[in-house]
Amino acid sequence: MKMFYWKLANGALATRVNLRKRKILSETPCPFCGDEEESNTHLFKDCEVTMRIWKSSNLGINSKNPANMDISQWTKNWLWFLMQDDSNLEGQAIEFLGTLWSIWLLRNKRIFNTSYHLNPSDTFEITRNWLKRWQDSSGNLILNVSPKKDTMGDL
Ligand SMILES: [Zn+2]
Repeated sequence: MKMFYWKLANGALATRVNLRKRKILSETPCPFCGDEEESNTHLFKDCEVTMRIWKSSNLGINSKNPANMDISQWTKNWLWFLMQDDSNLEGQAIEFLGTLWSIWLLRNKRIFNTSYHLNPSDTFEITRNWLKRWQDSSGNLILNVSPKKDTMGDL
């Protein structure tokens, strides 16, 4: 997961636009809408399917906003906002990451399982399972995500 986010933030994720740049694929339509090119920013933020996922998640994010911001900056802004110390939003930061992760899994499922009929609400199931991993038996979050630690790198 950490690796996934690092790749996303640094534009190194193997979406098909990236693969095409490396001449591995020639055509790269978005696996959700089929209209636009599958760039990271489109897939995780601007696609109409993705927008519906963000909007109907517990976070209720309007991912179109702000327009013309690339995915790396957009996720950094949100994580920074959700992880501020004086608020109780760490759980939402984890949910934010979980939603990104589930969009990626849904995308892979759509590409590699040709019989799969796209259902955006499947992401919520994935996110719920993801959140469970961060909770103890009474539902409290186990991990305190601290932005300061991240800036110091992995120890
Ligand atoms: Zn799309």
